[in-house]
Formats: sequence, C-alpha cells, structure tokens
Amino acid sequence: MNYDIKKYRSDFPILSREVYGKPLVYFDNGATTQKPKSVIDSISDYYSRYNSNIHRGVHHLSQKASFAYENARATVQKHINANSANEIIFTRGTTESINLVAYSFLRNRLTPGDEILITEMEHHSNILPWQSLCEEKGAVLRIVPVNDNGELEIASLQKLLSPKTKFFAFTHVSNTLGTINQAKEIIELAHAANITVLVDGAQAIPHMQVDVQDLNCDFYCFSAHKIYGPTGIGALYVKEDILNDMIPYQTGGGTIKTVSFEKTVYVDGPLKFEAGTPNIEGAIGFAKALDYVNEIGMENIAMHEHKLLVYATEKMKAIPAMRIIGTAKEKAGVISFVVGKIHPFDLGTILDQQGIAVRTGHHCTQPLMERFGVPGTVRVSFGLYNTKEEVDLFIMALEKALKMLS
Ligand code: PMP
Repeated sequence: MNYDIKKYRSDFPILSREVYGKPLVYFDNGATTQKPKSVIDSISDYYSRYNSNIHRGVHHLSQKASFAYENARATVQKHINANSANEIIFTRGTTESINLVAYSFLRNRLTPGDEILITEMEHHSNILPWQSLCEEKGAVLRIVPVNDNGELEIASLQKLLSPKTKFFAFTHVSNTLGTINQAKEIIELAHAANITVLVDGAQAIPHMQVDVQDLNCDFYCFSAHKIYGPTGIGALYVKEDILNDMIPYQTGGGTIKTVSFEKTVYVDGPLKFEAGTPNIEGAIGFAKALDYVNEIGMENIAMHEHKLLVYATEKMKAIPAMRIIGTAKEKAGVISFVVGKIHPFDLGTILDQQGIAVRTGHHCTQPLMERFGVPGTVRVSFGLYNTKEEVDLFIMALEKALKMLS
C-alpha cells in the first residue's frame, strides 16, 4: 500500500503547531477530526467568490451557490452509495438527524406499549431522542446488552425482537469501545422481524467505506466534522419511499410548493426537511472533505488506522495495571482504557501537558460506563494522519504520567 503519510500530514495546517512547546499529537479524532487545507479553502472561496442564498435567486451567484449545495448532496450520495440524491437530507449532524427521525418518522407511528430497541453501547444522542419519545407515547425502551469484550449479544438481540418492536436504532461503530458492529447481519435480523432500522454512523464514516444499499438500512446518519469536514453539518440518509411518507421536522421557507393562509403544500424530497437558509458553506466543505478521503481511499485509511490500532494496543498491554475497555474482535481505531485506580482526568491532564490530546470522561455513554463499572476512561482515537511515531510519543508520555501519579 502506498500510503503517503508525510504528504497527508502536510495537508492539515494544524498538525504543524505545537502545544506547550511540544509537537501536537492529536489523538482525539473520535470527538472531531482536523481539517485539510482543501476544506478550509473551499469555505473561504465560497465567501470570497460566490456567497449568495440558494434555491431562490436567478442571478449568477445564487445559481453558482445552489449548484455547489446540490452538488454536495450528490457527493454525499455517491460516498455512501445511496440510490438517489433525493435520499440525502442535510442536517446539523448526527444528533439532529436522529431527532429528525424520531419526530418526522416514528412519533406518529408509535402507540402505548410499543417498543423501541437500542443497545447498551449507544451514544447519548442515540438514547435520549428515543427515551423522550417513549415517555411521550407510553412506549418502552429496550436495551440489547454487550458482553465483556464490548460486543453486542446477538442471542439477546434475537430474543428482544418482538411484534411489539417498532424501531431499532444502533451504532455502526462504538465511539467508546471501538467495536465495529456487524451491521448488515443485524439489519437483516431486524428486517426479518419487520422492524425499521436506523444506523448511527457517526464513528463508522471516518474509518470505513459505508454502502447503505449493501447494508440495506432504512436510515443512516453521520456528521461531517468526524470525517475531516466542518462542524454544524451532517447527513441523514433515508430510503426514498420512507422519506416521502415523513412529515417535516421543522417548517418554514424552502420547504414548500405553495403557501396560502388556508393550506400549505410541501415540496417532495429532502428540501421538505431543510427549512430556512441552510449551512451552505458547511455543505461545500463537507463535499470537499469527502473528495479528500476518497482521493486517499477509505480502504487505505482503514488499513492504516488498523495498523496503528494493533501497534498501540500491543504497547499498551505491556503497561502494568492497564485495563483496555473494549476488546472486540472487530475494532476501529479507538482505544479506551483505565490504569489501576488513577482517575482518567488526571491522566488526560498530564498527557496534555506533553502535547498529547486525548479524551477523558464518559464519552456521552454513561450507561456503558456503568456496564463496565468505571466512571470514565481515557480514549485514544486515530485519524488518517496519525503515525506510529506519535504512538511511541504517547506511550512515553503515558509512562511518565503514570510514574508521576503512582
Ligand atoms: N453518535 C456517536 C456514536 C458519536 O460518536 C457522536 C459524536 N461523539 C454522536 C452520535 C453525535 O454526533 P454530533 O455531536 O456530531 O451530532
């Protein structure tokens, strides 16, 4: 594999900065990724050369902006192999996408006693919208447990799929454990029981090639900022026949065919769910980010990150009292850990002083922390630009921190 890491690193301006006089080692990619210059420039270019509102103006700038926005939708469609650009709704990100599905799809279909199924490894963003819907509708939230390695218990899942189950939402990759769920097989099981499925792809999208037609999911959501794009924009994939049957999440300008004081007729397709002036610059930067990763190749990125995962895991296992939380057979480049009784926050702070950026805390997965009996973890998460040398720096910094704290 010809993986030109030197070149890729030079594409990201922030990677050449120092923190506290030390070279930055950015291992917090699960929270958000850094942005390549092409993404940063595309946003500046939009504001410098063709800033204008979309879908309304006949003038040159508006047409250029509208084209770029719709072109971005087509880029997202191609990236996840959706059947049509009409199946892509731009949202603020994964969290808004899930809320949109809860409101626009499920809310009117749920009756008291119905069940919504999620898993024990969900991010709060894939728990709270369903929990609140259950409270409102008198429905019941059911949970698929994870085993000690952090893998879903498929036998339990099969038992939980019942005629009462109206919806199943699960994460493709766990942001805390790194577990890659066997999404295609899981979706097949749910569909066999006639259950509509949403996949939270926030942590899968930066690490692997996603093909929504192959997965055959009904909904797939992700955020641009986790795949080297800007914050404040993301995408929700919805199978077209389902999308046409959904009510708007928010109403307002841009969503309509005709409005009178007596009646409003909404447009068909994704614009029905994009009320108001959207995040035009975000969509443009999002598409640039997808172009960027596709130039490198998602499979190459996955392979590179897998090597880092294996290398770092081996080195970490050699550290006394190290407990890695999440030891699934199939993992993305995410390693959560605790060492003895040392508080993750203390470790994170000392690592930061040495230029190493990691995440500490519950990672918005408090029920999962409870499952593993820890208040939080330190989390290392890799991106396409990380190196083995950075892993070495991290291990050295970690050993130093442990000496200071014990
Ligand atoms: N789901 C998962 C698995 C995540 O990791 C995240 C982000 N940490 C989210 C949902 C929420 O994404 P966002 O904050 O971009 O809406």
